Amino acid sequence: MEHKLVIYNTLTRKKEQFIPIHSPNVGLYVCGPTVYGDPHLGHARPAITFDILFRYLKYLGYKVRYVRNITDVGHLENDADEGEDKIAKKARLDQVEPMEVVQYYTNRYHKAMEALNVLPPSIEPHASGHIIEQIEFTDKILKAGYAYESEGSIYFDVEKYNKDHHYGKLSGRNIDEMLETTRELEGQTEKKRSVDFALWKKAAPEHIMRWNSPWSVGFPGWHMECSAMGTKYLGEEFDIHGGGMDLMFPHHECEIAQSNAALGKDTVKYWMHNNMITINGQKMGKSLGNFITLEEFFTGQHKLLTKAFSAMTIRFFILQAHYRSTVDFSSEALEASEKGLERMMEGYVRLQKLSPSETSTVEVKGLREKCVAAMNDDLNTPMVISALFDALRAINLVHDGKETIIADDLKELQSVFDLFLYGLLGLQSESDASGGTEAYQKAVDLLLNIRLEAKKNKDWTTSDKIRNELTALGFEIKDTKDGFEWKL
Ligand code: ZN
Repeated sequence: MEHKLVIYNTLTRKKEQFIPIHSPNVGLYVCGPTVYGDPHLGHARPAITFDILFRYLKYLGYKVRYVRNITDVGHLENDADEGEDKIAKKARLDQVEPMEVVQYYTNRYHKAMEALNVLPPSIEPHASGHIIEQIEFTDKILKAGYAYESEGSIYFDVEKYNKDHHYGKLSGRNIDEMLETTRELEGQTEKKRSVDFALWKKAAPEHIMRWNSPWSVGFPGWHMECSAMGTKYLGEEFDIHGGGMDLMFPHHECEIAQSNAALGKDTVKYWMHNNMITINGQKMGKSLGNFITLEEFFTGQHKLLTKAFSAMTIRFFILQAHYRSTVDFSSEALEASEKGLERMMEGYVRLQKLSPSETSTVEVKGLREKCVAAMNDDLNTPMVISALFDALRAINLVHDGKETIIADDLKELQSVFDLFLYGLLGLQSESDASGGTEAYQKAVDLLLNIRLEAKKNKDWTTSDKIRNELTALGFEIKDTKDGFEWKL
């Protein structure tokens, strides 16, 4: 595979040439949602970031197996080893079965992802469907001597592990300091050290999500599912593991420790983390009142929003920042993105309708190379967008009759826009996104062409009827020198 893709590896803290372990196959694992609430912005960013990676790897010619899990058991309140399971708590409050909570929010997550034009992964395993694999993985760690049993629960022995390996190598945390500061807490829990983490938890009598194991009736620790399911579907060594930066510690640090303890090696070659989203400069959080769900964005039903924003505006907004930069959401910033996306999509429609000339006065050479180079540089989507905006200026000048373009250049421009705007950035016009298809676009064009003919024949009744009825349906129609433009 000839390419120059370079990605930033969080583990080595540098940009590295991407070389898969078993080319042309690529294994990609991304931590998915814990399904106990409505999907929000914090779900949108990793999903979109790794959707771009998934699309680009496939474009490069790789056969990608993309695994994104559903966490439906074992994720306790405050991401800790004590407290109620997030799913079980929601089930108790809503007086439903835990699996009803899981199904309901998984459906809503899928619906939101579809609206954001995030491609579905190749496999979407549920933690609750892989209890046996998690027990087996835990057993390997026990047999290797890096875990201990306490009151029916199994804990990872961080201090012991750190003597042979390096606990903290991903997050850069200093384990000696952690051990020192946590030593005082000894004896307060059934763990030896508070840095130790649960691989298996014995269920308290009131805990309803429970399974048999060699140690107790209980449930797996939160970090175990990703180790068990990642290696099950992608092998003991695979290429890329992704997720939000907030998962680096403890979640991903614990995954690395689990792999080294059970298998004696690192499972993941490249770790990739997207940065976080703030809202009006503040961290997102339920208690801060700035927790905006995707549905609230789509409907505008939130006090921090001036209006509703489409899923494509949100996708575009996220892609206007590099995935390793922070993104600050505000209504004003989103309005600017909305306008930018609208200009881009209008330009795309114009591009399809430009007529070629005998000579070119615009330069299109180098656009494709510029976009490819930006993607190769650790998925620099803002650079791709800026290159497309530059090309847009040329398109508009040709459209206005101020510049000309030859047929070959026009074809190249159309092909670059199709590939990058639609194929790789995964953007769509609002009419595509609202269930529209190419056929629908063509049907509206057809009606407006009939109207054009009617006008030529001075059949004003037909021409006005088409215009008025389309306008009543919400279409905006503009007459131009070459014919017409429309949008919904
Ligand atoms: Zn995970």
